[in-house]
Amino acid sequence: MLKVEDLNVHYGAIHAIHGVSLEVHEGEIVSLIGANGAGKTTVLQTITGLIKSTSGSAVLDENDLFAIEPPKIVKLGMAHVPEGRRIFSQMTVAENLEMGAFIRNDNDGIEKDMDDIYGYFPRLKERAKQLAGTLSGGEQQMLAIGRALMSKPRILLMDEPSMGLSPLLVKEIFAIIKELNKKGMTILLVEQNAKMALSIANRAYVLETGNMVMSGDAKEMLQNDKVRKAYLGA
Ligand code: ATP
Repeated sequence: MLKVEDLNVHYGAIHAIHGVSLEVHEGEIVSLIGANGAGKTTVLQTITGLIKSTSGSAVLDENDLFAIEPPKIVKLGMAHVPEGRRIFSQMTVAENLEMGAFIRNDNDGIEKDMDDIYGYFPRLKERAKQLAGTLSGGEQQMLAIGRALMSKPRILLMDEPSMGLSPLLVKEIFAIIKELNKKGMTILLVEQNAKMALSIANRAYVLETGNMVMSGDAKEMLQNDKVRKAYLGA
């Protein structure tokens, strides 16, 4: 479904991403793990067109993502839940969700999807009229996910959904990611929380200082000595 090949990204003179390749097949959860600064966010932002690559390709189905403007990428069925959530803090919860549907004009469908999202996240329903900036960190993460879902994506790119959340909330968010996947959503998950990311993924990739150093079955990686030492505190 998504295929990234030989990606190179520079920030000025800094060569941040070195020939990275990855694939996400329909129906999978694929995790991209790595330490702080390894380049995970850069990879996601390059796929979604927020950062320009120096070379390489990213293809969604048959579509060359580097030849398409970001709003069109959403129309192709790819949504991004950005690092730090980036919700619209001066808008209400409901308005944030409506913004997520900006590419759509099927009002009945939009209303139904909003109901579905309130089903996933009852706390958002209770706070529908509240300004998003006044939500807790966990609620903001729920809103960022909900907003992305409002574009009716087929593939969701999630950047550090566990960041800044309590262990309990992390569990809650990951349970929802799993449920979304069960209902058919394909997911590329970027995480520093390697344990959680590997435990819900089908496959995973490990990024170290801009280089892809390992890939494979996520459950096997959980048992891998090198991964355990470097990323699971074993
Ligand atoms: P984190 O989990 O901390 O967000 P990450 O794995 O997502 O880390 P990136 O944010 O992609 O890593 O950063 C990869 C490298 O690129 C880092 O060395 C970082 O300092 C550098 N970098 C990121 N953004 C910029 C920028 N705008 N200008 C210059 N260098 C940058």
